[in-house]
Amino acid sequence: MKIKQRTLTDILKVAEAFYPSEIGGLLLGDEVIDNYVLIPGRYTPRSVSVKLNQLPIYVKKKGTFHSHPSSNASPSRADEAFFSKMGRYHLILAKPYNKESVKAYNNRGEETKLEIVNEE
Ligand SMILES: [Zn+2]
Repeated sequence: MKIKQRTLTDILKVAEAFYPSEIGGLLLGDEVIDNYVLIPGRYTPRSVSVKLNQLPIYVKKKGTFHSHPSSNASPSRADEAFFSKMGRYHLILAKPYNKESVKAYNNRGEETKLEIVNEE
């Protein structure tokens, strides 16, 4: 999973701004994730509640991200069910919301490598 550094920095700032509430959204891009959109809903370490049938359609959807209000970046069972429906790549942003506290997962909930791409 590849993401532009600026995009990762932006979503980490969003996660920090919403703390202690959780926030999530879609990751957008082609080969490299370079954009995102927030999805209204409830994201808790135990459950994910978003109205999937009310989302706009994003052609460049690559996956999702959401924050946890703790330092635990492991997916819950609800997260894993959500991941399987929502694209290939998923980020969980845990406290203190920096690039060391982010973990990337595939659609089966297995941890995958996160490659941060610097702008040229
Ligand atoms: Zn979660």
